[in-house]
Amino acid sequence: MLYDAVIVGSGFGGAFTALALTEAGLRVLLLERGQPVARDDGDWDPRQILLGERYRGAPVQVRQYGARKYSDMHHHEVVGGSSVFYGGASLRMRPADLERWPITYDDLEPHYTRAEALLDVHGIAGADPHDPPRSAPYPRASIDFTSPAKRIHDAARTLGHRPFALPMALNFRDDSRPLCILCNTCDGYPCRIEAKNDLTATVPRQAQTQGLEIRAGVIAKRLVSDGARVRELECVDGETGEDYVFTGSRYIVAGGALQTPALLLRSGLGATPGGRWVGRRLMRHCNAVVTGVFRKRTNPEATFHKQLCFTDFYDDMRDRFGTATGTIQDIYTPARQVIEHHAPPGLRWAAGWLTAFMQNLLCIAEDDPRVDNRVTLGEPDRFGVAAPRVDHEYCAADYERRDYLVARARRVLQVAGAWTTRVYEIDSFSHGVGSVGMASTPEQGALDAQCKVWGMDNLWVPDGSAFSTSSGVNPSLTIAANALRVTPAMIATNA
Ligand SMILES: Cc1cc2nc3c(=O)[nH]c(=O)nc-3n(C[C@H](O)[C@H](O)[C@H](O)COP(=O)(O)OP(=O)(O)OC[C@H]3O[C@@H](n4cnc5c(N)ncnc54)[C@H](O)[C@@H]3O)c2cc1C
Repeated sequence: MLYDAVIVGSGFGGAFTALALTEAGLRVLLLERGQPVARDDGDWDPRQILLGERYRGAPVQVRQYGARKYSDMHHHEVVGGSSVFYGGASLRMRPADLERWPITYDDLEPHYTRAEALLDVHGIAGADPHDPPRSAPYPRASIDFTSPAKRIHDAARTLGHRPFALPMALNFRDDSRPLCILCNTCDGYPCRIEAKNDLTATVPRQAQTQGLEIRAGVIAKRLVSDGARVRELECVDGETGEDYVFTGSRYIVAGGALQTPALLLRSGLGATPGGRWVGRRLMRHCNAVVTGVFRKRTNPEATFHKQLCFTDFYDDMRDRFGTATGTIQDIYTPARQVIEHHAPPGLRWAAGWLTAFMQNLLCIAEDDPRVDNRVTLGEPDRFGVAAPRVDHEYCAADYERRDYLVARARRVLQVAGAWTTRVYEIDSFSHGVGSVGMASTPEQGALDAQCKVWGMDNLWVPDGSAFSTSSGVNPSLTIAANALRVTPAMIATNA
């Protein structure tokens, strides 16, 4: 069958593109290497999700923090992509964040509004002191702070900061669907009861009612091109090893910041006019968690509290670096089993016991788009498909921005009652973006302003890989808005 569009990847980039294309009446096939999430008790079991292999995908080789050798890193693979595990924080970039992009905030604004509506984001317009201009209020109001969030809120106010309700894509208020029960197994876990507005619960289902076809467990191996046109997509079934070929008039690659450049490189698209940028300038924010240890239990009710955000320091370093500094946000304490697992052997029980006395703040700092931070091709997997291989190092400016936030997060935790604090680096690629990159010319990036691969007539990349810079906010809402922004150009293409 000839589709109007074949999409690889069911995360934010793929699912939002699929919705807009099916709404326009196109026949769309969405391919995903993962399987549907189980939605059973195992989804809330920290051993199975945070330590285990429940949805473990194929390894990616990673060399970082000055290491000489590559080590394997695994990511979850499911229908819905990282959205299934995400925390739901849904912030817009600020106009200044887009200065090095080939588009402006005004180009994105209407699509942010639609993305917030589709994700049913709960927030309070204007509560963020750096709130960018918006043409509509949030679809729903935030809920009240729970007691752990209130503790941080009050401490921050004492210090003169202006913490506000983190805009969230969780279902707190629509009682026609399962409502959030305010549990503590949200960020990092699939939602057992489907109260997270991820990309299984809302957007693709809407697209399926309009004809979207989804095939899970299918790995895209290689795009085959004739000159400037992709002709077909070679795939393999992740369980049986059976080979398939899919054909469409348009091809959309949205495999995430590590897998998208790998697929393009496997397809020889490093030779397109902007092809030398494919895999380059991988970003992931320079993140750290600051843990405060308190004298009393911080969350005896085990309630949800990823509710607060601070942008007070967002532009403090803009003049020096031309970037945002970043944001500070509430984040849950990992489960006792996870803390024990990572503690040194003789200290495991004590570390586990202390879990109940911890409270954390997440510092999300903007990182630079460095050419040497890159995805190349590594070892072939069992199907002969070369996996991504990642080289990543932060620069001094990344650490400076992060440490600036860490110092302020520490102070908030101390004023809230922490008797000691510790800082943990985040070494995952959960906020991976930018490895293909939009730019005004092929000399500056692999994609044009509509996320079309320079030099190709029917190939687009509308996922996190398309980012030109990372900004200081979580990426998902911008991926969604940007995908909605570029779909009219896909539809208008005479394919
Ligand atoms: C624990 C966690 C918490 C997070 N919390 C937040 C948050 O609160 N707010 C926020 O904004 N962001 C958050 N993020 C980040 C956010 O989830 C990601 O930025 C976003 O989901 C990325 O979307 P994407 O479409 O670029 O890629 P992905 O979500 O990675 O989707 C790509 C999909 O493509 C599939 N795929 C890849 N290669 C192939 C192939 N060759 N063939 C077939 N399928 C393929 C993958 O399996 C995957 O499903 C979080 C991430 C994690 C992991």
